[in-house]
Amino acid sequence: MPDSDNDKFVLKLVPCSRCGNPFMIKNNQKNSGEIFCDNCIKLEQRKKQLASSVLESQKEIKTSIKEYENKLESADSPDTKKAYYEKIKKQSEILTKSVELLKKIEETNNEKYIEEYKRLFEKMKKESS
Ligand SMILES: [Zn+2]
Repeated sequence: MPDSDNDKFVLKLVPCSRCGNPFMIKNNQKNSGEIFCDNCIKLEQRKKQLASSVLESQKEIKTSIKEYENKLESADSPDTKKAYYEKIKKQSEILTKSVELLKKIEETNNEKYIEEYKRLFEKMKKESS
């Protein structure tokens, strides 16, 4: 039997491909392959946003490491050199942390961790400035 116009507005329950929670879709909506509930779609958007902020700040950290390296090259006194070494070391540590954070964001499927990662990221940004 061909779909009547009425069928388009009939809802059916399908499980989310990711979290498994059932949710409603329109009867005529394609249901092949993966299909995600609103919560999972929102979570995915928040993950993307946070990840791109982290990437942005990684660029800044890399730039500041380069700047310290240049200053280090032209530094004369051992004390100044030491100070730049320390700054480079600190920034590198933060960069490493940010890579770990990116991985965690990518792997999480839980909204509550996104908030936690956001706080971690804010803290990290403060440390690097
Ligand atoms: Zn879901």
